[in-house]
Amino acid sequence: MTDTREELPFDILFIGGGPANLAGAIHLMNLAGEKGIDLEVGLIEKGDEIGSHSLSGAILDPVALDELIPDYLTKGCPIETPECRDEFYLLTRTRNFKVPLTPEYMQNDGCCVISLSKFTRWLADIAESLGVNIFPGFSGTEVIYHSNGRRIAGVTTGDKGINKDSDKKSNFEPGVKLTAKITVFGEGAKGSLTREVDRKLHIFSTKMPQIFETAIKEVIELPESSQFPSSPASVIHTFGYPLGLNTKGGGFLYKMAKNRISLGLVVGLDYEDPLLETYQAFIQLKRHPYIAKIIAGGKVLQQGAKTLPAGGYYTMPTLAVDGALFVGDSASMLNTQRLKGIHTAMKSGILAAETIILALEEDDFTRRTLRKYESKVKKSWIHREHYAARNFSQALSKKGLLKFVHLGAQYFSHGKGLKDPLPIKADHATLKQMNVGRETEANIPKTDIFDGELYVDKLTGVYLSGTQHVEDQPCHLIVHDTDLCSTRCYQEYLNPCTRFCPAQVYEVIEAPDGTRRLNLNPANCLHCKTCEIKDPYKNITWTCPEGGGGPKYSIL
Ligand code: SF4
Repeated sequence: MTDTREELPFDILFIGGGPANLAGAIHLMNLAGEKGIDLEVGLIEKGDEIGSHSLSGAILDPVALDELIPDYLTKGCPIETPECRDEFYLLTRTRNFKVPLTPEYMQNDGCCVISLSKFTRWLADIAESLGVNIFPGFSGTEVIYHSNGRRIAGVTTGDKGINKDSDKKSNFEPGVKLTAKITVFGEGAKGSLTREVDRKLHIFSTKMPQIFETAIKEVIELPESSQFPSSPASVIHTFGYPLGLNTKGGGFLYKMAKNRISLGLVVGLDYEDPLLETYQAFIQLKRHPYIAKIIAGGKVLQQGAKTLPAGGYYTMPTLAVDGALFVGDSASMLNTQRLKGIHTAMKSGILAAETIILALEEDDFTRRTLRKYESKVKKSWIHREHYAARNFSQALSKKGLLKFVHLGAQYFSHGKGLKDPLPIKADHATLKQMNVGRETEANIPKTDIFDGELYVDKLTGVYLSGTQHVEDQPCHLIVHDTDLCSTRCYQEYLNPCTRFCPAQVYEVIEAPDGTRRLNLNPANCLHCKTCEIKDPYKNITWTCPEGGGGPKYSIL
């Protein structure tokens, strides 16, 4: 069947419409123009438009943007708040304590607040004006290899118009083979094609597991009378409540334009408590007296969730293989210590573009030339930033006093700390079993009261994310052994998927005779990938649904 598909050849193909690939595509077109190289460049994005799956805090360090588009301000770059003034708070259940000194690496002088979905749309317009062919609504579902089975030759896009039983519907459109001399994977965290490449070419280290965090974020419109926009603080970070000091993560609250704020909670997926419910923790953060006072009278305009790669330096993959490069979150470029990754993503795209030009000039698209991208990353500030923070996320994973001992040692030894590299466990392996005599559903803390405006429940949150999927399509969430859900997973962890998924996709339904079965609501899926990462039995595989499905973020 694959052989009968239409083939669309490009010189260079970018997979994913995030900041890494868009920066890469823009820089590539600029360099090609300067050198008189004629290029056919394609970029596919699974969202129905560029930006609809883009979500971030987002504080932008404009260092890479400045390099890419020096006149970005006059070119209409959508900036929400042009300068950042930091405040950092420890929250207890009812109180807040301002930390007198914000750690240097968390200071945001010279940075600005943006909406990543708006920012990527702006970048996409520039890329298109330079001649990049952008195809939103197309998901890559299969990696194409040359006949040697190891050199990447492009990707196949998913079929459209297949029903739940995998039969063709009247609107069936077969996927297309998009081939290229070089394919650039910038799919974001836990990309499904990058995962397939890893299975074949083993690009990720087996010594240090990939680790992630899940972020839930809202944009809230505040009333005119709100004090926050006129306060000197445009950027607030919190730690402590509701996660406590043993669970990695914290809250953020950033001032945006039009009396709006960006409010979110990031939770490290190496948490141990199977009863932790990420969405509930987010509501608890909003209901904390300090936060609740700031957002009083507000209305949630949009909500979303995504995972972030948190492992940094030691979890970066091989960045170049025969026929392909890996950029941005796909390459674990996010700097957890600085709580930002858009600048590193963009810089990785820029360096990938420079490597592509070298490869075109040398007419060699194998790793022999493409590995120059690795040297470029190593010589750049991406490496300097990441190397200084190489054990940071691992230290945050430690419990109690040990966490602060490690952080302190790393502070005074420029990242080396007490052990280098500091080992970590994979996120799926950290949940503590509850065993018999466990808590029952009745003991699980219930979610706070919702008002449908400022405090919205999960399903309203899904509605506010704009998420839509074609209902009659094969389920994109593969639960390999559903018996496990009603037996061991219930006994040992009380089905944590019902709590770590922020979109109520997983439900365990109990029949009157006491038997249980897993029920899936895949149409709610926010594409955050938390389920594939955190499931304790690695029983879930996330695959790409029909292109164009998923969230429709426009201001996140
Ligand atoms: Fe995220 Fe998985 Fe839930 Fe989809 S089903 S929203 S990917 S946790």
